[in-house]
Amino acid sequence: MAGFGQDAQAVKAADGSRPKPRKDDAMVDRKPNAADTNGKREAPLDVLIAGAGYVGLTAAVSLKQARPGLAIAIVDAAPAGVWQKDGRASAIAAAASRMLEQLGVWEEIAPETQAITEMIITDSRAADPVRPVFLTFDGEVAPGEPFAHMVANRDLNGALRRRAEKLGIDIIEGMAVSAFDTNGAGITVHLADGATLKARLLVAADGVNSKLRDMAGIKTVKWEYGQSGIVCTVAHERPHNGRAEEHFLPAGPFATLPLKPDKDGTNRSSIVWVERSQDAKALVEGDEFVFEHDLEQRFGLKLGEIRVADKPRAWPLGLTLARAFVAPRFALAGDAAHGIHPIAGQGLNLGFKDVAALAEVVVEADRLGQDIGALDVLERYQQWRRFDTLQMGITTDVLNRLFSNDIGPLRQVRDIGLGLVERMPRLKEFFIRQASGLSGDTPRLLKGEAI
Ligand SMILES: Cc1cc2nc3c(=O)[nH]c(=O)nc-3n(C[C@H](O)[C@H](O)[C@H](O)COP(=O)(O)OP(=O)(O)OC[C@H]3O[C@@H](n4cnc5c(N)ncnc54)[C@H](O)[C@@H]3O)c2cc1C
Repeated sequence: MAGFGQDAQAVKAADGSRPKPRKDDAMVDRKPNAADTNGKREAPLDVLIAGAGYVGLTAAVSLKQARPGLAIAIVDAAPAGVWQKDGRASAIAAAASRMLEQLGVWEEIAPETQAITEMIITDSRAADPVRPVFLTFDGEVAPGEPFAHMVANRDLNGALRRRAEKLGIDIIEGMAVSAFDTNGAGITVHLADGATLKARLLVAADGVNSKLRDMAGIKTVKWEYGQSGIVCTVAHERPHNGRAEEHFLPAGPFATLPLKPDKDGTNRSSIVWVERSQDAKALVEGDEFVFEHDLEQRFGLKLGEIRVADKPRAWPLGLTLARAFVAPRFALAGDAAHGIHPIAGQGLNLGFKDVAALAEVVVEADRLGQDIGALDVLERYQQWRRFDTLQMGITTDVLNRLFSNDIGPLRQVRDIGLGLVERMPRLKEFFIRQASGLSGDTPRLLKGEAI
């Protein structure tokens, strides 16, 4: 991996080449920057992306694949290789799979993914011996195309990195963006080691606690749920047959998501188990026996004996919505723009939608010879994404408030609601379409089309 040492080495692509300056770029301040080495002037970038999570990587690949002439680099604060330690898995909607296929990434990860062919929803208490099923979803968005897949986070990140490297995108690891300033012509980005990079556009994909969002002066609407999501992998005796389950329990949802069996053929599922934060902390830091006992009470024994297959971790949950997605030469994407409750497993899928919309807007502007960092260009992206994001944020918030409690009358109302949806095939089809990410004004990449 290319990277900056203490003495600010120059940016280099993973294949050893340097970012190519755009010959037609009159907008950028071409003064040498602190990334120069050996008296050589480092070329300004077209796009600098802060954050090599799924969103930052996908943004870089989407832009570079459509416009190979753009000089693009990514800087990430995490030390090299940290991403390989992420043991989580994510539900990837059909639209996101189409996008990854178009970007030349899906083919590599597909053999390791697990299709979700059915989803059931129950509403009960943890100790209830029987959990009546209120709602079931199954079917495909197109013949042979399930509405979602489970993907291991490190498989996805690894495949995106390899694709980025192949396209000649620089990935600078262990280096945080510490400040930036915008002038009319470009943006100067200061890195933690004192080096600077110049670009026409800075994309902040630095996660839910985005420092770049603060640096840009963008305010958020934000609250904590007092809940944490415990995530771990569970090995079980019998196959899951592609079935996902979500049990609405008083402290929060408990979801089991089917994973592909491991190399030894062990059946596995990923769980997202939401508890009040102090209970979640006690569970993950406490006695393993207590954890397994409480897990078994929720998971049940329908898939036979179960065993915790990796170290459980808890993630605090909240809602964070940025009040603006853009500023001059600056755009937020992914969790940096919106952190939502995982009750619908849509956080990353929203991030993919941001990337698809941003890439489409930027590529179109570049083709027309417009300035890709100009505010009026970036506002098209903001207009495209803000309402959808707000809608999803509110929906997950309402669902969490409606279901994460044990108030008798409320339980009756919501169970009647679930039962009604179950009897309306059209409405169920609508929800499947929503969950697959293929509804509304879908950007081209999410339809599987090139930009
Ligand atoms: C318990 C749980 C379960 C979930 N399950 C699902 C699911 O099933 N499906 C789904 O779609 N979503 C799910 N999500 C949401 C999903 O994980 C996130 O939406 C997704 O990881 C966000 O990706 P991102 O690239 O925007 O941010 P991140 O993955 O947070 O990446 C941010 C990157 O920015 C880097 N960075 C930070 N600061 C700086 C800086 N100053 N300079 C440079 N780099 C910086 C970090 O090192 C990091 O690599 C879940 C979330 C939780 C908590």
